[in-house]
Order: sequence, then C-alpha cells, then structure tokens
Amino acid sequence: MENRIFNFAAGPCTLPVPALKIAQEEFLDYEGAGMSLIEMSHRGAHYDKVHNSAMANVREVLGVPDNYDVLLLQGGATLQFAMIPMNFLTQGKTGEYVNTGTWAKKAISDGKKIGATRVIWDNEADRYTRMPAAGEIKTGDDAAYVHLCSNETIGGIELQEYPDTGDVPLIVDMSSHILSRPVPFEKISMIYAGAQKNMGPAGLGVVIIRKDLVEKAADNLPAYLSYKTHAPKDSLYNTPPVFAIYMMKLTLDWMKDIGGLAALEDLAIKRSGAIYNAVDESDGYFRCPVDKASRSRMNVVWRLPSEDLEKKFIAEALNSGFSGLKGHRSVGGCRASMYNAMPIEGAVSLAQFMLDFKKKN
Ligand SMILES: *Cc1c(COP(=O)(O)O)cnc(C)c1O
Repeated sequence: MENRIFNFAAGPCTLPVPALKIAQEEFLDYEGAGMSLIEMSHRGAHYDKVHNSAMANVREVLGVPDNYDVLLLQGGATLQFAMIPMNFLTQGKTGEYVNTGTWAKKAISDGKKIGATRVIWDNEADRYTRMPAAGEIKTGDDAAYVHLCSNETIGGIELQEYPDTGDVPLIVDMSSHILSRPVPFEKISMIYAGAQKNMGPAGLGVVIIRKDLVEKAADNLPAYLSYKTHAPKDSLYNTPPVFAIYMMKLTLDWMKDIGGLAALEDLAIKRSGAIYNAVDESDGYFRCPVDKASRSRMNVVWRLPSEDLEKKFIAEALNSGFSGLKGHRSVGGCRASMYNAMPIEGAVSLAQFMLDFKKKN
C-alpha cells in the first residue's frame, strides 16, 4: 500500500486510506465546482451537504438518541475543559471530578479556575493504574456535574462500566476511545472528544450533549463559549473548520462501510488482544503496569527490562515500519496507540516483532 507505515502515535491518528484517497481525488475541483471545498462558502450548498452528513454520520455510527445535540466546535477537547465549568458551574454548586490521570488533571485544573471543584475519586497514590468501579463514584448534594475521562491516553487505562450518577449530569471525555464501543447514553449527559484521535484530523472537537443540559448553559458568556450559541445554529454560528469536518465525514463513511460500531469494537478487541497476548506470553520480559481489568483497547502501554532496551526496541521498531511507539515523556516506556483506522495487520505484525525482539535481546 504505497509507502505507508503503521502509525502508532497517540495523536493525531492514522486515517483510513479510502478516506484519504477520496479527499485527494476531490481536492482541486470539488464536485465540479471549479474550486476546492476549503475555498468556498461555508453557507453554500456544497459545504452544507458535507456539514449535515458529518453530523448525521456521528448520530448514525454512535447511535446518538434524538434528545441529544451534536456540536462541531473548534478548540479540540481542551476547550471543553474550560467550557464545561463556564457553562454549568453556577454559584453554590460544585464541579465533581474523577482523577484518573493526566487528562483528568487538566480538566480539574481548568475547573478550579472557574469555580468550586471537588475530586471525588483519586488514584494518584496508585500511579493511575486502574479506573474506578461504577460503585466507587458517589456524588454530593451540591454537585453541578461529574466529570470523567473514560480512556486515559497516557496511562493506558479504560473505563469498563459507567457509574450511575442519578440526576447529576455525567460528562465524559471520550477523546481517545470514542467510536470503539457502544455508549450507554441513559447514564451520560454529555460526551466530548477531539476528533484527531479516532475520527478525523485535528482542528475539531465533537460535543454530544443532551438538549435539556444545553438549556441550563450559562447566558452571560462570550458567544463562542456558550453551548446555547451553537446548538440552535447547527454549529454554523461562525465559520466552522471545514476541512476537518469534511475529513471526519469521510472517515465516518468508511466506518459505515466496514460495518459500523460493532465492527470497530471487534477490531479494537482484536488489535489490543494481539499486543496484550505478546506481553502476557513474554514471561515478564514485557510488563504492562496497568491493572488487567482496566487495560485500554486503544492505548496499550508496556515496559521492557531496562530503559536501554526500550530505546533499542523503539529504534528497531521504527526501522521495521512501526512508528510512534515511544511512551509519553511523563511516564516513559512504550505505548502503542491503536485508534479506529489502525488495520489489524498493524497490531498482529507488531506483536510478532515484539516476540522476535525478545528472542534476540
Ligand atoms: C488528546 C486528548 C485530549 C486533548 O485533545 P485536544 O483535541 O488536543 O485538545 C483530551 N483528552 C484526552 C483523553 C485526550 O486523549
């Protein structure tokens, strides 16, 4: 397949070749318009169709119920760390946070700048090696919302069962595993994700929010920062990130072609299973620091017997066509991020490479 290598980087992600090819073919002259999509009006018929199909695709593939709005915003997942407390952290209320690792901490840090926050579960003492069980999450009477990151991209842990937070809205950062498993919408009031890990290129954040929560959003915010601005305007309040939305639409078209969410989940289980098997069958040569029940299907982390061997492993892997395996600088080690468009062959051949490396070293 041309000169493409397996890209295991934590983000931006590898994208499906069929989607990239369509973008290439359509780039100079979009559907006979004599110009590219990124040169034309975001209020014209051509882009309108792309915009609506992108949102319809998110609804279709993820099974989003009708009483939720799908918003396409700029600022990635990071702007949501601020928008959530700005919109929902009213006087006398407390934003409740589950501290599962690096990304949860960033959300907490922004929340603190806006209002009262409380960490209701924290696993820092265990170096973030597991996710909470559903029953461990207890909300207070003054809770404005509970914020949770359901897949910690750096720690390599993934939530298995969502807590039931009753009337308190549960808000979930799904950036690094969205569209890889079904979402229990009956428990979740709002989901958000940066597009560039699982569904498109950078430049776009996707927010899926229950309509009654939009109604509760603050009125006194600058326009762009309020959910109330975007929902009634179908995310066309200002110029949207046209190219990112177009690429996301094409990526979701590909997801529908390969069998939708069930197929994506099956792929995620098989890819991660191949790597975890290589780890588990290595007699401790490869070591996954994460609790087995919290192992992520999307970001698999492991150590080798020494840092020198880790360096050697990452360098030799790159020479063999596996890029992006270096763990995050804050934790070291190795990490294979296998987002939705990573072919199964990528994981299977990396697992084989790991076992070969062990034999030689
Ligand atoms: C990458 C990531 C983010 C940040 O996303 P941006 O779109 O770059 O702002 C937030 N949360 C999680 C879990 C991530 O993996």
